[in-house]
Amino acid sequence: MADVIPFDQRDGSLWYDGKLVPWREAKTHVLTHGLHYASCVFEGERLYSGRIYKLKEHTARLFESARILGMKIPYTEEKINQACMEATAGYEDAYVRPVVFRGSEMMAVSAQTTKIHVAIAAWQWPSYFDPATKMKGIRLDISDWKRPGPDTAPTKAKAAGLYMICTLSKHNAEAKGYADALMFDYRGLVAEATGANIIFVKDGTLHTPIPDCFLDGITRRSVMALARIRQIPVIERHIEPKEMESFSECFLAGSAAEVTPVSEIGPYRFKPGEISETLMHAYADDVRRPVSQVDLAKLS
Ligand code: PMP
Repeated sequence: MADVIPFDQRDGSLWYDGKLVPWREAKTHVLTHGLHYASCVFEGERLYSGRIYKLKEHTARLFESARILGMKIPYTEEKINQACMEATAGYEDAYVRPVVFRGSEMMAVSAQTTKIHVAIAAWQWPSYFDPATKMKGIRLDISDWKRPGPDTAPTKAKAAGLYMICTLSKHNAEAKGYADALMFDYRGLVAEATGANIIFVKDGTLHTPIPDCFLDGITRRSVMALARIRQIPVIERHIEPKEMESFSECFLAGSAAEVTPVSEIGPYRFKPGEISETLMHAYADDVRRPVSQVDLAKLS
C-alpha cells in the first residue's frame, strides 16, 4: 500500500474542549474511556464554498447521540455550531469531524464521573464532482454482518461502537474488489451501506428502507426532499433483499458519499439512470446554495 501520511502529521484546524489548539499538539491519553469502551459519538460534515451543509441538523444529531449514550455535552448546540464555524474559518471546502467522548478519569465499564470531551477537527477536503465517473456506479458486496436491532444496540445514535461491523464489512468487501458493502438488518431486511444510506428507484419512484435500526441520514432526508420538490415520489418501507431484482436504479446517500450511483449489489444489477443523475446534480447544487432548496421548500 502507498505510504499514507497519518492524520496527526497533517495540517488542519482543531477545536478541543472549548478552544482552538494547534493540530499537531493535541493530546488524548491512551487510557481514555472512549477508546476502550466506545463511549464515543461523532458527526461527519462537509463545508462547501465556506458553509457547512446542514450544520444545525448535524449538531442536533450529535447532541441526540450523546444523550442516547448518557453523555451530557458541556456546551450548548449554539456554541458547538459556532465552534464548527471557528474550526473551518479560512477553508472553502473541508471535512468536519465533531467527536464527543468520555475521558480518562475512570477505566472500567462504569464511567459515571468521566469528563465529557468535545473536539472538532476540520481539514481541507476539496469536493471534486465528476458526473461522468460517478454515473458508472460503484459495486457493492453483501455483508454477512447484520445491523443490530434497537434492543441490542443504541441504533439511533451515530456511535463509534456501531462502526465495528462496518469496518469489518468494508474490509471484507475491499478484499474482494468491491467499493463497499450493503448490510441487511437483524430481520434480514435491506438496511444501509457501511457509511451511507441506500435508495432504490422503481417505475420513477424512490424506495428506501425505514431507518428503524440504522442511521436516519441527513443526506438521505435532503435527497428525499429534493426528489419530492421535483415531483419524484418517495416511499419509505421495509425492503426484502429479493426485491432488489425489480429495482432499476440504486444510489447511496451520505455526507461523505454525497449521491453515489450503484451498479451492482452482490448478484443484483442496476443501471445508473435519469433519476440518479437528476438527484446527484440536485444535491451537488443544493450543498453550494446560500439557502438550501430543502429549507426554502419548508418555508413555502
Ligand atoms: N449510515 C451510516 C452508517 C453512516 O456512517 C452515514 C454517514 N454519516 C450515513 C448512514 C449517512 O448519514 P448522513 O447523510 O447524515 O451523513
